[in-house]
Amino acid sequence: MIDIFSLTKDDLKNIIAEHKMENYRANQIFSFLYKRGVDNFDDIYVLKKEQREYLKSHFSITRPSLKTISTTDDGTKKYLFQLKSLEHIESVLIPMRDDKFTICISTQVGCKMNCKFCATGKMGFKKNLTAAEIVSQVMFIMQDNNLKNSPNIVYMGMGEPLDNYDNTIKSLKILTDPDGLNISRRRITISTCGIVDGINKLKTDFPNINIAISLHTAINAKRDKIMPINRRYNINDIMQSLKDFPLPRRKRITFEYVMIKGFNDTKEDEKALLKLLSHQKSKLNLILLNKHEFLNDNIQPSDLESINSFAEHLRKKGMFVTIRDSKGSSINAACGMLAVRTS
Ligand code: SF4
Repeated sequence: MIDIFSLTKDDLKNIIAEHKMENYRANQIFSFLYKRGVDNFDDIYVLKKEQREYLKSHFSITRPSLKTISTTDDGTKKYLFQLKSLEHIESVLIPMRDDKFTICISTQVGCKMNCKFCATGKMGFKKNLTAAEIVSQVMFIMQDNNLKNSPNIVYMGMGEPLDNYDNTIKSLKILTDPDGLNISRRRITISTCGIVDGINKLKTDFPNINIAISLHTAINAKRDKIMPINRRYNINDIMQSLKDFPLPRRKRITFEYVMIKGFNDTKEDEKALLKLLSHQKSKLNLILLNKHEFLNDNIQPSDLESINSFAEHLRKKGMFVTIRDSKGSSINAACGMLAVRTS
């Protein structure tokens, strides 16, 4: 049985063509699955009976099973799902201004990258999610919250999306399909710790989406200490790969920067950031480091005063700087905190 959520529309067209079904049938199937949210092939009433029978015998419609939902006062909801393979993943729904929502999704169970401030990194790597497992997080959360308008989708949950490249690309094709959820590329952000080969491929395989780089320091010797990936792809390699990155119109590359006390919030760090980013169309997103049980004593959050003055100094020099409010920290749903805690 093929999980139908793992197929792009072109994949589906190719497969059903072998059963003499016309291309437009794939459009209809996509529309019923993603727009109407059917979970039974019998409900796709526009198909002939034998076509529905064919789908039933060759494809499955699998949804992740929900274990828990944790909610905070600000409306952030963290979903813990169990996969068919019994591992667990987490996804987060974050309310934004003007009744808009962002859904943060996972692409792996655990992560290989072992960034020192990140709870997911401490879990180690368990497996890559399939495209179906990635897409169905969005499907489930949209249906559960009756979201009619397209949410923003950020690939910032558990795992490194570009380390699960093929399934990430497939999921992007499925989520943006006009006959399916039809989510605009402008609303999607891929966050990466800087897998340069993946960034380079993304430019041609799926251009015009947003990209966020987990930078966390502009100094290579420091980045080596907190992000082991920097020994393979250093800051210069990343910046080189971003030079011709095809963004959506009027968008900037985001650089994520978790503020660590005494480590990356000094004058030296301000200077290094200015040198690195002042010629780049960029947005620097300062993030309050969330405390979690996996942090060691050397990595502690900067205080709010230092974060504000760090931001102010950089803004005065012309940089576009935001400070991300840390929604969901009380339920371990904030940045760098997703790590499955099932007990
Ligand atoms: S920050 Fe991202 S890349 Fe680094 S360990 Fe955590 S999930 Fe992996």
